[in-house]
Amino acid sequence: MNIILFGPPGAGKGTQAYYLVKNFNLYKISTGDLLRIEIKNKTSLGKKIKSIIDKGLLASDKIINDLIKKILANKKVNNRLIFDGYPRNLNQAKELDLLIKRNNQTISCVLSLDVDKKSILKRILGRKICSKCGLIFNVYFSPVTKKNHNCDPKFLHKRPDDNKKTIEKRYKTYINKTLPILNFYKEQNLLHRVNGKAKIDDIYKEIRGIITSIET
Ligand SMILES: [Zn+2]
Repeated sequence: MNIILFGPPGAGKGTQAYYLVKNFNLYKISTGDLLRIEIKNKTSLGKKIKSIIDKGLLASDKIINDLIKKILANKKVNNRLIFDGYPRNLNQAKELDLLIKRNNQTISCVLSLDVDKKSILKRILGRKICSKCGLIFNVYFSPVTKKNHNCDPKFLHKRPDDNKKTIEKRYKTYINKTLPILNFYKEQNLLHRVNGKAKIDDIYKEIRGIITSIET
């Protein structure tokens, strides 16, 4: 089962991916994470990527496709991937289709988290991520408490690209480039729309129901 989590930046894809990974033995693919690893390791590709992201732009399709190609060839995670925030445009979606088929895998479903722009701004600006355990918190919606987080607070940080100007830019790109993908998957009967403004637990319950109905 390969799943695509779809939705604007800040829709809560990362949070849902976290629970799906935990409960369905899936492996999360976030191109953001893959890119950040390259940047952190200061590879030549990483340096190139950093200058692009610093401008609020997105990495080229070629860079992304190369990263995805590598993951799909990895037998350890065969047919249990969850794509978080990828594909981001129609070209990437078509390329992913080819790569998936070439590796004898399938896309089981595309889950679209629907959220409006106002909520997105609040979500992203309040977001804090734990670099140790991967949990995502939000000062407005799901603040850190002693009950929900055990790591040292020093691991909690904001992503450098989580600022208003970058978000506005990314949202515009999402509307123009990413949203058209929905039709591509709708035509393949893979699309499931979920109310992304509901509570995190309720969203998860709905998603879990969809996945379970596909599995059986
Ligand atoms: Zn943590």
